[in-house]
This record gives sequence, structure tokens and C-alpha cells, in this order.
Amino acid sequence: MTASFRSSRYSTKKRVLVTGGAGFIGSHLCARLLEAGNQVLCVDNFFTGTRGNVSDLLDHPEFELMRHDVTIPLFVEVDEIYNLACPASPVHYQFDPVQTTKTSVVGAVNMLGLSKRLKVPILQASTSEVYGDPAIHPQTEDYWGNVNPIGPRSCYDEGKRCAETLFFDYRRQHGLAIKVIRIFNTYGPHMHPNDGRVVSNFIVQALQGEDITIYGDGKQTRSFCYVDDLVCGMMAMMASADDVTGPINLGNPGEFTMLELAQAVIELTGSSSKLVYRPLPQDDPRQRQPDISRARDQLGWDVSVPLREGLVKTIDYFRALIAQA
Ligand code: NAD
Ligand code: UDP
Repeated sequence: MTASFRSSRYSTKKRVLVTGGAGFIGSHLCARLLEAGNQVLCVDNFFTGTRGNVSDLLDHPEFELMRHDVTIPLFVEVDEIYNLACPASPVHYQFDPVQTTKTSVVGAVNMLGLSKRLKVPILQASTSEVYGDPAIHPQTEDYWGNVNPIGPRSCYDEGKRCAETLFFDYRRQHGLAIKVIRIFNTYGPHMHPNDGRVVSNFIVQALQGEDITIYGDGKQTRSFCYVDDLVCGMMAMMASADDVTGPINLGNPGEFTMLELAQAVIELTGSSSKLVYRPLPQDDPRQRQPDISRARDQLGWDVSVPLREGLVKTIDYFRALIAQA
């Protein structure tokens, strides 16, 4: 079926497809693309994304929302493709691991096929998980990773690795304009309150006065990027020259232990929550910090939102969400 979006061919505006557009990052990307004067086709199967995430955009004349699963081919006419469709939190991607791999791999084949037919650039939302539990620190793009191929995280990690392989083979074989970014832990408004990710968990627990669940000893590290910074990097990547294919790390190099994150959340929410310790999930990476030299050099991109500033905005979002519930 050809979507009604096709009718927009008479417009001079760029038509941009965002798969996974009703998810956390996708919804911010759709909003920014509209602000920049584009038409946006948001495609989502609503597995983890919601209409609520894009409710502010539904009345925008240049926005179209389409329910569709990327494991099924899609026939639309667009000028650029951002491929974000895939659950991103361990709780969600481990819920139906076979479907997670299919979404990454079959979804990539379908979107690459669309890009090939239309001869338009395609950006892949890859992940720092391709580095697994990294043996080098911070992680540079030329590090090949340390990934368990048969563990509970593998459906996501290996699915994303295979998608990267497909992107580079489509470039070598068919000359596609590909853009591969490796996103490090990102947070902000529109995160799913029950997705089990550490930022949303800690904030929701703190706001509800519940115990804050530290997995393991809490000394493992992550680097947290505010979503607005990430979206700027994604759009800079799409706007880059054809020979800028990536992979390019996008993330905030500030590195924190989970204990430090918990303390910051308790302080910023004014919560009296206490810390409780729970077992560390299998294959949980010990440390993660992006080296973003390549993004700085090739995209002129950098981060601008410090953790505490981004946390305040995210806390405000969850406070309002909890008040509505
Ligand atoms: P999310 O779960 O909020 O968004 C994913 C979206 O994809 C959801 O709207 C979901 O309904 C949709 N989706 C899932 N399977 C689909 C399918 N088969 N067909 C169509 N839509 C489907 O997650 P997010 O945090 O917004 O992540 C977006 C992308 O960025 C993902 O590809 C993820 O792997 C990548 N990423 C995110 C992070 C992060 O920290 N948030 C880090 C690294 C990579
Ligand atoms: N984590 C935690 N408590 C929670 C949720 C997560 O201590 O309630 C830890 C988790 O074990 C991991 C880190 O926080 O070490 C980041 O987890 P998340 O699921 O957000 O991202 P990922 O592990 O995929 O980087």
C-alpha cells in the first residue's frame, strides 16, 4: 500500500520518515524536524511508543502518524529516513527477544530496501551496546566490542550489530548514502515510566518515596546524554556530507556511577527514598563512556546539557505524569 504521504510530492518541503517516531527519542526528533520546516511521517507499531508522546504534533499540518511494523515492507515516498524502530530498554527488548532481533534485522533490510528504491539517505540508530562489556575505555568507534552472542542482551546487541553490517554492505554493494550513529544512554521527557531504565526508575522511585534500586554495588558507570543534545547530533549527521557514513558515537562523555546518579536524583527531587541493593543483571556492562572526538571533528557537534540540568527537566516531566495518573 502506498501511504497518503505520497501526495506531499507537490510540496518543496523535505519529507522525512522516522520509524519508531512515537517512542522516546523518536518523538523528540519528529518535533525538531517539524520545527525545522520538514514534513514528517512517523511510523510506529506502538510496542513501547505511544500516541501520547506525539499528541502535541497530531494537529500539525505537516505531521502524519502511521501504525506499521517495520518487519513488514513499507512503500512510501520520502526524501530521508531515520530508522529508530526497536525497543531500547532491557525490560522491553527482552520481553519478546525473537521479535527484537527481527525488528533490528528484518526492519533494517526493509528500510534499506526503501532507501535503495528511493535513492535517499538513511540513518541508523545504533547503540553503544555494540561494544558490549567494553575492554577499552572510553569507547572509540574502531573498537570491535566484547559482546556475548547467546545471552539475554544478545537479541538487542547482536541485532544492532547485524543491522550495522547490513548498512555497510548496502553501501558497498548498492552505493547507499548511509549514516550510522551509536547512541549512548540517553534520557529525558517521554521516557517510558516502566521501562526499567536507570534514569526513569530512579526518578519515579524518588518521586513516589519508594526505595531506589541499585543493581550490584552501584559502582558500574554510564554516561548520560540529554535527549535534546542527541537529536541535534542526529540531524547534524543526516546533514553531513555523503562520505560521512559513521559509525559515529553520540553521547555525553560525563561518566557517573549509579550511586552518584541515585544521590543526584534524591537531592534534586528532595526525596527521602533510601537505597536498596538488588542483584546485578547478567552481562551488565561495568563501564561505558563515549569518545566523541569523531562527532566533534566530522559533525562539529558537542553536548551542552549537563546531567543535573537534564535531570531537573526530566524530573519535572515525571512529576507531571505522576500527578495526571
Ligand atoms: P523507545 O522504545 O522509546 O522507542 C522505540 C520505538 O520503536 C517505540 O515507539 C516502539 O513502539 C517502536 N517499535 C518497536 N518495534 C517496532 C517495529 N517492529 N515496528 C515499528 N515500530 C517499532 O526507545 P528509544 O529510547 O526512543 O530508542 C530509539 C532508538 O534509539 C532505538 O533504535 C534504540 O535502539 C536506539 N538507542 C536508544 C538509546 C537510549 O538510551 N534511549 C541508546 C542507544 C540506542
Ligand atoms: N540499574 C540500576 N537500578 C535500576 C535500573 C538499572 O542500578 O533500577 C543499573 C543497571 O544495572 C545498569 C545501569 O543502571 O548497570 C544502566 O541500566 P539501563 O537499563 O538504564 O541501561 P543499560 O544497562 O542498557 O546501559
